[in-house]
Amino acid sequence: MTDLSELYQQVILDHNRNPRNFRKVPGANRQAEGYNPLCGDRISLQVRVEGDVIRELGFQGSGCAISKAAASLMTAAVEGKTTDEANALFRAFHDMLAGGATAPGKLAAFAGVKAFPARVKCANLSWHALRAALENTVAAQPITTESASD
Ligand code: ZN
Repeated sequence: MTDLSELYQQVILDHNRNPRNFRKVPGANRQAEGYNPLCGDRISLQVRVEGDVIRELGFQGSGCAISKAAASLMTAAVEGKTTDEANALFRAFHDMLAGGATAPGKLAAFAGVKAFPARVKCANLSWHALRAALENTVAAQPITTESASD
């Protein structure tokens, strides 16, 4: 168990230091802003969707290690997926942090976050931004973790 925890910590540290897809996306046709006032995490997410497939996505912003690593892993997990598959991953990640089953793949690295309720919103922020971007519900107001359903 200790080895597993260390492995998970390494995944989070790696994605914090070298975030994947930390950039703007040329030709993005969906985007959303996310803000977690409890921690000060901010994310700007851009997505290029073709049909129902997420072809490319990228994020920018600033925040704690958990929020940045979670955003990095989120973008890596959903790139190339259909929007239905991305929504299923959103639910799996959300459920895991709510105490449910462990999410698939490297997303499992965040399983330990559920023991730290204040950090759950850091980990969920980019996923809420993704869902908002895919639903195209974003108007002038950024989504915040305070208005999210968790
Ligand atoms: Zn945070």
